[in-house]
Amino acid sequence: MLGAITGNGLYGNKYAFGFQNARMSQDDEQKDEAKQALIKKNYNEIYAHELAHKTAGGHLAGAIVIERNADGIPFAGHVAIKMPSLNPNNPQQTINDANTVIRSAMAPADPSGQDYKVAAQARNIKSEAQNMASKQRLNLLA
Ligand SMILES: [Zn+2]
Repeated sequence: MLGAITGNGLYGNKYAFGFQNARMSQDDEQKDEAKQALIKKNYNEIYAHELAHKTAGGHLAGAIVIERNADGIPFAGHVAIKMPSLNPNNPQQTINDANTVIRSAMAPADPSGQDYKVAAQARNIKSEAQNMASKQRLNLLA
């Protein structure tokens, strides 16, 4: 999941799990093995998704955060991205940064609903910056 400001674990919806009981007896070795496998599987899947965001986000992306439940099972991931603000002195910079955010949001093979929202937000900022840039060009011509 890519969060413009905060994330609420939408990506975690995919990771339902069956280990409600953290206390294990010696008879639960098999369960423990399954749990370890689940931890690894979830971690790898979430990490791959977040790494795609981070790699494409470059300097605008923050660190990868993996959230775990009380049993230590990863259920959600998060990378913060710096949403560009409209810069009247340099709309082209805003456009470039917005493009980076859009690429970052859509980088994973399985973008979440939140990822699409971040991309849409960046597209809005990009089109505002484009309008600003073309108005400035017109003013120069006038
Ligand atoms: Zn994502």
